[in-house]
Amino acid sequence: MEILKEREQSHLLKGLIYLDKRIDLNETDKRYLVNLQKGFKGERCFDDLVKTILDKEMIVLNDLLLVSNGTTFQVDSIIITSNTLYLFEIKNYSGKYIRNSDGLSTIQGQDVANPMIQLSRMESFINQLLKEWNSTSKVEANVVFVNPLFSLYNAKIDDPILMPNQIEEYLLKINSRSRMLTKEQHYLANRFRKLENSGMPMQKQLPYYNYEELKKGLSCKNCGSFELLITQRSCYCKSCFFKSSVGEVILNNIEEMQFLFPELKLTTTNVNNWCGEVVHFRKIRKILKDHYIAAGETSGRVYE
Ligand SMILES: [Zn+2]
Repeated sequence: MEILKEREQSHLLKGLIYLDKRIDLNETDKRYLVNLQKGFKGERCFDDLVKTILDKEMIVLNDLLLVSNGTTFQVDSIIITSNTLYLFEIKNYSGKYIRNSDGLSTIQGQDVANPMIQLSRMESFINQLLKEWNSTSKVEANVVFVNPLFSLYNAKIDDPILMPNQIEEYLLKINSRSRMLTKEQHYLANRFRKLENSGMPMQKQLPYYNYEELKKGLSCKNCGSFELLITQRSCYCKSCFFKSSVGEVILNNIEEMQFLFPELKLTTTNVNNWCGEVVHFRKIRKILKDHYIAAGETSGRVYE
């Protein structure tokens, strides 16, 4: 099994995580962040099963944003085998839901977007692409509910869904049916990748922020807390007990600064200010010298 495209945190999710540490996000953005994090966690959980179970020859593509004729399709996972293309729409819902004629609702009666409709649109879009690319591959699509705390009442036997206790069995079935890949499957995988790179992703933007209002200081990579115990070499988080070297923490915080303020020059002064001046100036200079390339004179030297 070859993972041709690994799943990564989206630009938006990363940005919101960084901002959440340093400003008070409004209610909407905060909720949005929590949902994105929950979704990402669910997808990762599915990826772990895929990595553990699938050991035959096949290609996995995660988190594809496909653009065609002005329409964007987000595909959580595609597994390409010798004769079938498996599509997955991954949901990390928890709690009790009811399947009714319109779709899904919570047990309290609140309607939620029906992932099966989303799935069926995606399936016809992929079928159309395969036809254009002269492929005879079959398509099998499913909504995967990964959370063991999810239950669904009134589901139909032919609903394209996998409940948490069915995922493993389904992946084992894919594994046992899989045969050697040919050129065609590699061709398909490359076509998907090309299609992905051809369009601009349409994403919700990060909320407005400016440098001054953001909290300065070194934050824990694991939990985001600023409550760090810093010694000469090591750094210990008082909130989650995560331990790392001071160098690692500084590099993580530099990454956040560059992500949120790409136009801000990488100088000792700027990094020192961003890190809340909690470590010695010389330490920061050494980290920059060791990990980046210096340009310019000693004073006001910029690193790249
Ligand atoms: Zn922590």
